[in-house]
Amino acid sequence: MAFIEELLAKESYTKSELVELLQVTGDGRAKLFSKAAGIKEKYLGNKVYLRGLVEMSNVCRKNCLYCGIRSGNQKVNRYNLTDDEIVDAAIFAWKNKYGSIALQAGEISTREFATRVEGLLGKINAATYGELGITLSLGEQDEDTYRRWFQKGGIRYLLRIESSNQELYKKLHPNDSLHDYKTRIECLKSLRRVGYQVGSGVMIGLPFQTLEHLADDLLWMQEMDLDMVGMGPYVEHPDTPLFEYREQLLPIAERFDLSLKMTALIRVMMKNINIVAPTALQAIDPLGREKAIKVGANVVMPNITPGAFRNDYKLYENKPCVDDAADDCKNCLDARIQLAGHEVGYGEHGDSPHFYQRKNAQ
Ligand code: SAH
Ligand code: SF4
Repeated sequence: MAFIEELLAKESYTKSELVELLQVTGDGRAKLFSKAAGIKEKYLGNKVYLRGLVEMSNVCRKNCLYCGIRSGNQKVNRYNLTDDEIVDAAIFAWKNKYGSIALQAGEISTREFATRVEGLLGKINAATYGELGITLSLGEQDEDTYRRWFQKGGIRYLLRIESSNQELYKKLHPNDSLHDYKTRIECLKSLRRVGYQVGSGVMIGLPFQTLEHLADDLLWMQEMDLDMVGMGPYVEHPDTPLFEYREQLLPIAERFDLSLKMTALIRVMMKNINIVAPTALQAIDPLGREKAIKVGANVVMPNITPGAFRNDYKLYENKPCVDDAADDCKNCLDARIQLAGHEVGYGEHGDSPHFYQRKNAQ
């Protein structure tokens, strides 16, 4: 046990130390979690910030092998919210003092889409007096598009690398130019150049994924000097090619446990970044997000997509809250966050302190 304490006291970690830490159980696991909780308390206090999630559209040009709304899945009922529906959801978030929203969708990279989002950002900011912090999660775009959206008030961007290992990345995506690891890295660099708070992350418990891969993912996130991390368990979807490998997956409880350890470890390694408690955790354990908050996460993304469409935005199985109205989500979430011993930062952006630290140092 002294060994774990010594490890946890270190300033930085090697890959093999991280592999070691990903395997801790019992008392060692409790020590890792309490170290991460202490770091969060010290650097960020006990506030949890909200990003009202609007799933704008499930239309996607890509065909990622893990994702339920991939273009090849003919069973999906495709939808595209209208600007009015999205602005209404933003007004709901604003009135309820969420502080921020996140716009997410399948990947569309046409000129029309770029222009549409530009106009939409203007409409949202006009309707909410520019008070909401807006996160975008709209996939790979060219730098000019990222810049146009930034100029219209998008301030944060989430683009997961999914796996930082190129070989594994190739196994999770069709082998073509639309699904190129290098392009994804270039997009993350573009986002940083344009000036966004940049978030990325990985899926945990993927087929073919090892603890060594996950340790490398943690080191990659640190090296990329991310401002935000969003990572969560891989949850298989029956209408995807990767479903074929479901027998090889870690049991779901182990994927959940690994996700908590990854969250705790990235908090220990990157003390003042924002970390999302992913909704996919809740697909496994009803208290999943609260558990992530207790071990280092400080951002939650309650779903405010109009109810009728939530069922059609299924990236994975057992997506939670598809039947709730946004109002129910708000009440339920507030109670849950308080139960986790935290307070909701109502009406605050809750931007990444790490981003401002880097900016001020420049
Ligand atoms: N199209 C955009 C945003 C929507 S997908 C993009 O791909 O960036 C958002 C995230 O959902 C992806 O980054 C991926 O990490 C996650 N996701 C997709 N399928 C999943 C699955 N089966 N299990 C868990 N997470 C999944
Ligand atoms: Fe499309 Fe994103 Fe799903 Fe890939 S993960 S198929 S880009 S929605």
